[in-house]
Amino acid sequence: MVAGARPDRSDGGVVPPLWISDTYRWASPDEKPDYDYSRTVNANRTLLIEALAELEGAAGGVVTGSGQSAALLALLRLPAGARVIAPHDCYGGTYRLLDGLQKQGKLVAHFVDQGDAAAVDAAMAEQVDLLWIETPSNPLMRVVDIVALAARAKAAGALTVADNTLPTPLRQRPLELGCDLVMHSTTKALNGHSDLFGGALLAKDAALAEELAWWSNAAGLNASAFDASQILRGLRTLPLRVDRQEETAMRLAAWLAQQPAVERVHYPGLADYSGHALAVRQQRGPGFLMSFELRDAGAASRFLGGLRLVTLASSLGGFATLICQPSTMTHRGMPPEAQAAAGIRPDLLRLSVGLEAAEDLQADFERGFAALA
Ligand SMILES: *Cc1c(COP(=O)(O)O)cnc(C)c1O
Repeated sequence: MVAGARPDRSDGGVVPPLWISDTYRWASPDEKPDYDYSRTVNANRTLLIEALAELEGAAGGVVTGSGQSAALLALLRLPAGARVIAPHDCYGGTYRLLDGLQKQGKLVAHFVDQGDAAAVDAAMAEQVDLLWIETPSNPLMRVVDIVALAARAKAAGALTVADNTLPTPLRQRPLELGCDLVMHSTTKALNGHSDLFGGALLAKDAALAEELAWWSNAAGLNASAFDASQILRGLRTLPLRVDRQEETAMRLAAWLAQQPAVERVHYPGLADYSGHALAVRQQRGPGFLMSFELRDAGAASRFLGGLRLVTLASSLGGFATLICQPSTMTHRGMPPEAQAAAGIRPDLLRLSVGLEAAEDLQADFERGFAALA
């Protein structure tokens, strides 16, 4: 049976119903029903968790109202003053959350270039509680070695969480590579339709999954029944969408790399890209996201002004091709010094390839390049 597609118990419908009740009848005060109160447990969420756990090889987990609430949940269970090692070029919202909690004295965050083994060793020399991995990274598509990093964290007594939003479980399975937790913004490719927010945090180990469910209920982070059912609906077409988006991304990346106005393309699918060999080893495909820099540092806004089909917007993984300038959009939560340290140039452009025809997208970028003349 397809993951999360148990036929409806009442009438055999091939699609599960939407269970909107917030509370459920008890037969007696001593007989707690499996489903009692929907902040704690809801059947639409259960189906989505089952499907995601199957895709990631997890024992279980939780689905939350946004990717950020899933990230918060990964941090909530840590003791006060815990040390977290995160990538220096992590998702802007992850940076904002870790930095904000650090400023409150709730945890200590170290932003490290995880491709630099000596820097990781130096950060791990002290006691560490959680290693945060994001590969390929957003927006620079840096690929880091999950097996080596998770083993290093384990030896130091830390758990490892991988933000697997970009690759999706179809292209990378971090729990099989030694991670303890895997996190998603289901807002992105898993839903795929750019019409809701959602997150997931899944654990390899059943006891850890239980602990996440406890915290998610305690803090009220769980997703709504409607959002859970819509994300499950999005999952049905995930393999088709990712295949098509990746095929188009491959074509566009190779074409962009040949354009005289383009300085550099960051995409693991290109054979001469620094992270290519590692991506081939740990991913099942390069995915739908890339970033690139124009040769003329001031050209980005003219290029963007020439586009008609591709939309200037943050977010990624949806049906529509989106382009954004991380320095002023997705990563504005990261101060300019931190952006510079992460290698995010002010005019770096990030491209999330959608489902349009490759030739239509190429024609649109030709309009962008024409606007530079
Ligand atoms: C979007 C995103 C998030 C945050 O998810 P929201 O659903 O927007 O809260 C976290 N990590 C990555 C890699 C993302 O792309």
